[in-house]
Amino acid sequence: MTLVNTKKMFEMAYNNGYAVGAFNVNNMEITQGIVTAIAEEQAPLILQVSRGARAYASISYLKAIINVAVEENPDIPIVINLDHGDNFETCKQFVDDGFTSVMIDASAHPFEENIKFTRKVVEYAHPRGVVVEAELGQLGGIEEDVVGVNDVSKNLADPDHVVEFVEKSGCDSLAVACGTSHGAYKFKSEPKLAFDVIQKIADKLPGFPLVMHGSSSVLAEFKDLINKYGGDMPNAMGVPEEAISKAAKMAICKVNIDTDLRMALTAKIRQVFAEKPSEFDPRKYLGPGREAIKEMVKHKLHLLGCAGKAAECM
Ligand SMILES: [Zn+2]
Repeated sequence: MTLVNTKKMFEMAYNNGYAVGAFNVNNMEITQGIVTAIAEEQAPLILQVSRGARAYASISYLKAIINVAVEENPDIPIVINLDHGDNFETCKQFVDDGFTSVMIDASAHPFEENIKFTRKVVEYAHPRGVVVEAELGQLGGIEEDVVGVNDVSKNLADPDHVVEFVEKSGCDSLAVACGTSHGAYKFKSEPKLAFDVIQKIADKLPGFPLVMHGSSSVLAEFKDLINKYGGDMPNAMGVPEEAISKAAKMAICKVNIDTDLRMALTAKIRQVFAEKPSEFDPRKYLGPGREAIKEMVKHKLHLLGCAGKAAECM
């Protein structure tokens, strides 16, 4: 078993100027695509399960799939994280289910309440060897039932608040509002990440790992395929990859990617349906989707700088 929490991973990522990719899993093909890429590139891995994933596939199926990935890859450190836990009970359940990391997202609550909710999860998780990611400030866009603010540039994290929040809550990492946004329709114009905010937080909290949500780039390759083969996503826009790469060299140690996985799978399925309309074997369209996910994830691992870093994160 090489299931680990994020402690060593984030320490290495912070000190060596890279970030670990955190990928959302919803079924077997998505998980296999991600894990094959990780194994080929020898990168550390964070697999995430959201409440929506749990509702769709059930935690026992997802956990079983993830367990196979862990057993088959003893050389890869793998974290399993609850994405956007909404309350203490949810977080407690995932800790009890063997997750090594949980996110408590109480960011919609006032500052003091967010600290209180996060603290409670920390007090349950830490004695059990589980780390806690918290969120401060309002991220933009829509991720399943998590609805953010409209204009991310007006809702950036306040570095002084971040220091107080981290000290009082005891969280191990923090998702901060720095200009990213959930979903495929995050932006009306090309976004600018608030590198100054990231740097100010790093100056005040040296060594503390930050997390970037909503960090898919909405790759042209897949957007174009989707639109070419009957899809309708003309206005989809993501975070430019150069910006992700720059943030990964700073205090950002975890970069969440979900939309790009969804779009890779959807693009390939659409392509097969359009080019081979008589095809009805699910393996013939899910297979190419899985392959596209693998290639896309390999590309991301180089972008984040975590390719080849599995061993040092063990
Ligand atoms: Zn998120």
